[in-house]
Amino acid sequence: MIKAVRGTRDLLPPETAVWNFVESAVRDVFRAYNFQEIRTPIFESTELFARGVGEETDIVSKEMYTWLDPPHVYEVLLRELTSADKEGRPPIVRPEFLESLGSRQSLTLRPEATAGIVRAYIEHKLWDRGLNKLYCIGPMFRRERPQKGRYRQFYQIDAEVIGPTSAGSDSPARDAELLEMLATLLDRLGIADWNLELNSVGCPNDRAAFNDALRKALEPVVGKMCADCQRRAVTNPLRVFDCKVPEDQPIIQTLPRISQFLDEGCRKHFEAVQEILKAVGVPFVLNDRLVRGLDYYTRTAFEFTHGALGAQNAILGGGRYDGLSEALGGPAAPGIGFAIGEDRLVMSLQESTTADSVVRKPDVYVAPLGAGMNVEAARLARELRRHDLVVDLGDETFRLKKSFEMATKAGAKYILIVGENEVKADAFALKNLATGEQVSIPRAELARRIKIQE
Ligand code: AMP
Repeated sequence: MIKAVRGTRDLLPPETAVWNFVESAVRDVFRAYNFQEIRTPIFESTELFARGVGEETDIVSKEMYTWLDPPHVYEVLLRELTSADKEGRPPIVRPEFLESLGSRQSLTLRPEATAGIVRAYIEHKLWDRGLNKLYCIGPMFRRERPQKGRYRQFYQIDAEVIGPTSAGSDSPARDAELLEMLATLLDRLGIADWNLELNSVGCPNDRAAFNDALRKALEPVVGKMCADCQRRAVTNPLRVFDCKVPEDQPIIQTLPRISQFLDEGCRKHFEAVQEILKAVGVPFVLNDRLVRGLDYYTRTAFEFTHGALGAQNAILGGGRYDGLSEALGGPAAPGIGFAIGEDRLVMSLQESTTADSVVRKPDVYVAPLGAGMNVEAARLARELRRHDLVVDLGDETFRLKKSFEMATKAGAKYILIVGENEVKADAFALKNLATGEQVSIPRAELARRIKIQE
């Protein structure tokens, strides 16, 4: 048997109804804030992520699904390496093959959405069209160790505000608006006990000073820390704050914090974000250990967590990335965005919103009874569906008992019997499967009668 690949999974009904419920709430809420949908490709050139996400990040350095295109390079290489030439000399790799490698393009399944959206923003000069609020829903791919709430193909709901400074995209009002939108969405979905953690990671200047201070503070203690931290201390000391190893935590507690290094502009920006959040009633806690995993973040960084999720408790994360557009060869275009982990959002929802409460079961199961009845049943089903009813349709070979079983299994409210007598009378037996009540209803009244909520 061929199974789904490790770290991927099938989303089955009725759970998919919860996913649809989430996505339609997302579309409604985002619309109210004037966001519009963008759909970018599932794969992009590897360089986009190397530059946009950062070579130093875990994502780029070890989690991406990357290949050379055309993709059958490994098979060719294997052949080259294992086959002797015509004269029987030992195998060598021909120079032409090595050259052909250079002309192959390195492609990557997207591990996140921001880089692709900013690429599209630059490529299509979206600022000219006044498009500065975009969202995207879709699968992302990271080769992480699978566990509860962590998959290799997972789904993100991503939104970005990006644009020239003249459009106010650098304003703290955007940060607050985005956070308020998220609070509205979570409340609307009935996720009550979320926490918003907020920080400012400053701008590159602040960070240079902070990194120096961190390096100094780490020097005497890093030998006692985990291997990852020892590497981070050299490559990007800020990442030490991502460390989850319990033994390292007491040391991390003693390290300097970015909040002590913010310049006047960043401090004022951060204060303004907090002021608006307080005024609109969005609760938050400050967490100056929150540095986020990606290189391009500036100023505001945030994360929403949910207690019920266990170890992987982050439902969403995001922040400001004022330098990203320029890093990708575009114009100066400050931006801020977030990515919601849809898998985790659905998990945190499942207690309050069960699949049963959002799935739309058939209103009626139409049961043709006896040879030749499929035709009339098809006609009736078509009529009823035109009235926006959910109709499941049986088959004339089913005996009445089987039709009842099928209707019950499908969760239909009514069963409608289409037999020869009914067709002659042009009135049909309609039975309520919950109460057992059965009535004969003229064709013209069927839709109205089925719609009546008991
Ligand atoms: P990030 O892009 O790493 O900031 O992640 C944003 C959100 O995506 C996280 O808060 C998680 O909810 C979700 N997420 C990230 N990686 C995974 C994964 N491997 N499996 C499921 N959800 C994930």
